[in-house]
Amino acid sequence: MQPDVEHGAVMPPLYLSSTYSFADFGKPRRFDYSRSGNPTRQGLEDALAALEGGCRGFAFATGMAAESCALALLSSGDHLVVHDDLYGGSYRLITSVTARMGVQVDFADLRQPGALERALKPNTKMVWLESPTNPLMNLLDLEALGRICRAKGVLSLVDNTFLSPLFQRPLDLGIDIALHSTTKYINGHSDVVGGGIVVRDPALAERIGFLQNALGVPQAPHDCYLVMRGLKTLPLRMRAHHDNALELARWLEKHPAVSAVHHPWLESHPQHALAKRQMRGAGGTFSFRLKGGNEAARHLLTRTKLFVLAESLGGVESLIEQPWTMTHVSMPEEVRRRVGITEDLIRISVGIEDVEDLRADLAQALP
Ligand SMILES: *Cc1c(COP(=O)(O)O)cnc(C)c1O
Repeated sequence: MQPDVEHGAVMPPLYLSSTYSFADFGKPRRFDYSRSGNPTRQGLEDALAALEGGCRGFAFATGMAAESCALALLSSGDHLVVHDDLYGGSYRLITSVTARMGVQVDFADLRQPGALERALKPNTKMVWLESPTNPLMNLLDLEALGRICRAKGVLSLVDNTFLSPLFQRPLDLGIDIALHSTTKYINGHSDVVGGGIVVRDPALAERIGFLQNALGVPQAPHDCYLVMRGLKTLPLRMRAHHDNALELARWLEKHPAVSAVHHPWLESHPQHALAKRQMRGAGGTFSFRLKGGNEAARHLLTRTKLFVLAESLGGVESLIEQPWTMTHVSMPEEVRRRVGITEDLIRISVGIEDVEDLRADLAQALP
């Protein structure tokens, strides 16, 4: 955000006003009402657009509000293709709300881009992607999938929450819509819920701006202010998350209590080459498996001291959880088993603390 022109304040001012005076009869100023536009929110939206390399950014009350807005681009009778490994809240919204509104929804495993060609129908309007996925860290070839969508005139959307624009820029890879839960890495301090959308095409930006106002889902100015403050340290935090997480992943890979580590920057990851091609880093979140199943998970999760037993991710503090009983419990049991979300799987969100302290905490807590 540019320094304030009136007083030269270096930190952008926080505009809480819901309404703005007209300059004269018939002469509105740049902003008239804060649902339609707010100077503080504008500062954050411009910053998000610049980070993702788009023409316009939009800030929303939550990540789910951003998703609701993106899905409102669809009409009854349209077809939506969704990669079958996605955030639980997105799954719930798409299956229980979007589908009820008359949008036809099909799930497909899009790890082989050819699967998308088979899933497309004449009425397909959007393809919903997430990479890396949560909690198994599977990757999608965004460039190949974006190319297929463009050739067919279908909108492509990537939930880029796990990497932030620092480590992955979907629009550069030919994707139409980059979406975020800014609650996670972009704000980074676990004190705001928020969402973001960035697009490159001005006509699409017009439609999203209309929906953001019509649906009434933008982010409140105070929360925008906090997210902007978080953004100032995004590069420092993302590098620290990446370095700490990779160091712990390499160490866990050799630990006798651990049977597997799912981390795209490890050479053992089946899509490591794709990770190196489309990502500039892997962030702080990954998962691993314990040899002793549920008992080993209980042992670990009741003994960590620095790693806090909690859901969510992307904050400066380290968190640990068992997806089986926590983040993914709303997924039917047989689906969890089929995709590999079992009792032995542990997900950690590695913060920016001293990595030796984090390693020592895991070492004393592992069975
Ligand atoms: C948390 C999350 C969301 C939802 O965002 P909220 O801010 O909690 O509404 C969407 N996608 C992903 C990948 C997330 O991690």
